[in-house]
Amino acid sequence: MSSIAEPARRLFVALDLPSLDEALALAELLDAPRVKVGLELFCAEGPRAVAAFVERGREVFLDLKLHDIPETVCRAAEAASRHGAAFLTVHASGGRAMVEAAVQGAGRCGVLAVTVLTSLDRVDLQVDGNPLDPVALCVRRAKLAIDAGARGVVCSPREAAQVRAAVGPGALIVTPGVRSIGAAAGDQKRVETPSAALAAGADAVVVGRPIRDAADPRAAYSAILKELL
Ligand code: C5P
Repeated sequence: MSSIAEPARRLFVALDLPSLDEALALAELLDAPRVKVGLELFCAEGPRAVAAFVERGREVFLDLKLHDIPETVCRAAEAASRHGAAFLTVHASGGRAMVEAAVQGAGRCGVLAVTVLTSLDRVDLQVDGNPLDPVALCVRRAKLAIDAGARGVVCSPREAAQVRAAVGPGALIVTPGVRSIGAAAGDQKRVETPSAALAAGADAVVVGRPIRDAADPRAAYSAILKELL
């Protein structure tokens, strides 16, 4: 493996774009081995948005954040897993039975449970009536999800160390909310740098806008890879 291969495996590029043509163009420009297909692209293009990348040998993280009653999530996860994604997200807040149902439906596609959205902070949780701080809530939901059979969890780098301590070395930890120093956070509230995410125990990070919206996306991608060495 070349020196660039390892860091590239630690990064899912979020292809948050309105069309498959644009997403393919960005992925080809970067030659990224791991891509994330999220709600915008999946709602616009459907399953072919996953298949197109699988056919090109990319590993796809299908970020649908399923959250419904267990029966519905089981059936949706089963349908979603047919498109060849390696990972599928559900919300851990759906509860243990829902995560178990997702795992059952997804089969060999790994379920990643979103703990607390990285766009929420302690105040947002309080407004929602939740007295726990983001770290405590992430740890609680991560344990629940891994006990329910999830392959891993999605959390902010800010709580990745506590989550790692709670779930052990076998569970995957994927962190969005990742920004190099000086990069615009946008709507993300719990952010850290790529290297801080790895140091805290993340297996992989997710980065979208800092690459997609860069004047030179390839240079932005390379700069982030250097922070993941
Ligand atoms: O543009 P940015 O780097 O903030 O993109 C982060 C990506 O990760 C988005 O596609 C978003 O949907 C996703 N995500 C997130 N927070 C989570 C789970 C997924 O930002 N908790």
